[in-house]
Amino acid sequence: MTIRDQLIRTISAEATEWRRELHQNPQTMYEEEFASAFICRKLTEWGIAHERGIAKTGVAASIEGRRNHSGRAIAFRADIDALDVTEQSGQPWSSRTPGKMHGCGHDGHTATLLALAHYLQQTRNFDGVVQLIFQPAEEGGRGAFRMLEEGLLERFPFDEIYGYHNWPMLARGTFAICAGPMLAAVDSFAIELTGKGGHAGMPHYTRDAVPAAAQLVLTLQTLVSRETDPLASAVISITNLNAGSGAFNVIDRSAKLNGTGRSFRPEVRDHIERRMQEMANGVALCYRLSCTVEYARLMDATVNHPESTMHARSAASAVVGEANVKDLEPVMGGEDFGGFLLERPGAFMAIGQAEADSASPHSQGVHTPFYDFNDAIIPTAASYFAELAERRLPID
Ligand SMILES: [Zn+2]
Ligand SMILES: [Zn+2]
Repeated sequence: MTIRDQLIRTISAEATEWRRELHQNPQTMYEEEFASAFICRKLTEWGIAHERGIAKTGVAASIEGRRNHSGRAIAFRADIDALDVTEQSGQPWSSRTPGKMHGCGHDGHTATLLALAHYLQQTRNFDGVVQLIFQPAEEGGRGAFRMLEEGLLERFPFDEIYGYHNWPMLARGTFAICAGPMLAAVDSFAIELTGKGGHAGMPHYTRDAVPAAAQLVLTLQTLVSRETDPLASAVISITNLNAGSGAFNVIDRSAKLNGTGRSFRPEVRDHIERRMQEMANGVALCYRLSCTVEYARLMDATVNHPESTMHARSAASAVVGEANVKDLEPVMGGEDFGGFLLERPGAFMAIGQAEADSASPHSQGVHTPFYDFNDAIIPTAASYFAELAERRLPID
């Protein structure tokens, strides 16, 4: 075992405690005050220069290497936010706040980045600067974009950026990555069809939005099945469909549907947005209704840069062996790390955390109430980042 392995192992044992404390105190969407204060307390304790309040609860920190002649900087990013889910993992360190849960493992990403910070501050075995970015509001809050808008790149400049997500679909001990699109662009939409309510026994005096909403749900499916190149991926999911007050004999005046659109290619995204509007208008016209469509682009696709992906692969291979670094099949989940990749080259890694026991909380999908981050991957993930930092900013 190398000195680095030993040091990271020692730090990671402590990081497990931090992770569990973060897990017990989940907050969402720019309200991550607990995590933000926790991170700053640790950084202060270790004498690491940092700034709090970039994108409200975001924190960025800077560590200078033993030498700083290269003029180069590399950034590592962790997200710090939780989800609106009530935890049922049964873990002793479960959320203390009903309705909030670290159900995506960002508590683990935060603990990993803190472990890296502690390691790098003690060793500083690199030539240049390492920037550590603790980003809020990854889950639909555009935290990455807000940090960039608030001057992250000017205050904590970097040439490359790397991040990771724990991956319950992959066994612990394996990594996976692909060059190019890895995670989808994420959009949300809300459509309201409005007619005229009335007596359910006399529908001819009303303009009923319910059959139109039913029609529109089906019509929107053809956006993917009939209008998108089968080899270019897209998803339309209508996740809510609401009309009526519960009465069996009243026709409501409107129906609302909302959901998410996902895609990799910009032209597919443009097509979905434009055609959704046309389809909603067409159906509304057909049923004598008016309609409004609100379409919001939440996150861009996470597109790994080919060269950075190569660096990520070789650093990962040094940690877990080449055979354990797999080719990742892109997935239609979203991740706003992609926002950083629009500004600087970099790569996002999937780090497996599943255990052989399929009932283990570490083997459950993210965003389910049964999930929990696997602390056993903290040393591996921190070593991967450390390896990258020392390779990309070599001291000799
Ligand atoms: Zn998530
Ligand atoms: Zn996540």
